[in-house]
Amino acid sequence: MNRLRIIEALYRRPLLSRADLAQHARLSRATVSTLVEELVRVGLVEEHPGAAASGASAEGGVGRPPVLLSLVSRSAFAVGLDFGHQHIRVALCDLAGEPIVDEYSPADVDHAPVESLDLARELVREALRSCGVAAYQLLGVGMGLAVPINKATGDLEADGILPGWHGIRPAAEMEARLGIPVALDNDANVGALGEKAFGAARGVDDLVYIRLSAGIGAGLILHGRPYPGVAGVAGEIGHVLSDPSGPICRCGNRGCLEAVASPVAVAGLLERSLGQPLTVQRLLELVADGHRGARRAVAEAGDAVGRAVSMLVNVLNPELVVVGGDLAQAGDILLEPIRAAIERHSVAPAAGAVRVTEGRLGARAEVLGAAALVLAASPRALAARFDA
Ligand SMILES: [Zn+2]
Repeated sequence: MNRLRIIEALYRRPLLSRADLAQHARLSRATVSTLVEELVRVGLVEEHPGAAASGASAEGGVGRPPVLLSLVSRSAFAVGLDFGHQHIRVALCDLAGEPIVDEYSPADVDHAPVESLDLARELVREALRSCGVAAYQLLGVGMGLAVPINKATGDLEADGILPGWHGIRPAAEMEARLGIPVALDNDANVGALGEKAFGAARGVDDLVYIRLSAGIGAGLILHGRPYPGVAGVAGEIGHVLSDPSGPICRCGNRGCLEAVASPVAVAGLLERSLGQPLTVQRLLELVADGHRGARRAVAEAGDAVGRAVSMLVNVLNPELVVVGGDLAQAGDILLEPIRAAIERHSVAPAAGAVRVTEGRLGARAEVLGAAALVLAASPRALAARFDA
């Protein structure tokens, strides 16, 4: 228990002196000294003599600065797996969340789940092999999947969203392939975690992450914790009504936000006027080149997203809205209409309190957030090593 307190304190606040560590862990100096000695011996904690020299104590000039302690970031690792509709991404992260390997492979995830799971196994094995990380050094695998996941049953709500995955238990399948515990969550939820742990939402406790990719989803973090809802499907903003006369959505309803404003829907709008097929990448190039029609289409998508987000802003009163996914690359062409719609449709105190920003991690938000799923539980896993 005391070991866990020390590991937790150092995980949350790297570079603490023994005195500060005793205070944060609420332990006596003597207990801290004994346990730190043990943790240093087993290679889990390291000392940084003189690391404080650049801080306030250098100004004082009296006495030596205290030796600071931190966890050894390469003493344990976590794997993040991001299953998109058409790709698999793998990141091997150290304890500090630093990605040591970050690999991307195209894959027909939507229609070929078994092949995709097999491919993910190979990518993870290769990542471990290339860095010489042994299985015992791995804390676990976090996995993000572009589908709502029912927390109560563990089932995927795949109908119409990810049709090929019906009846598949991805976490169990991946565990069987790797022999390592796998934590599974929805892609927008892990994206929110990624931006909170390593990106635009660091230090923010109330935020909404909007992912604008093939689908549209929101990851909610309230009071510093992910908010999954009672069944784990909170944040399905892609399927709120946006336009009653809009197209039929893949979920079976009409005029969902996703059917109106997803990058694929926006590209589809332009295909008709351009008279040729348009990839999302090409759409973004046209926006960057100042193409009027492309900018208009993206701006209107921003307005539709903003109207939906304004409801979340009214209901949840978040501090920050982070916009991620492919379409976020359009920058202010997309973000300004989102901000304007929030300004127009949210109550003044909530609109005045919220900032809207682009994600900082780009396409890596989901894979790093998936690793963060595992890293968040790392103090407990590290302390448990001593019980074995
Ligand atoms: Zn829908």
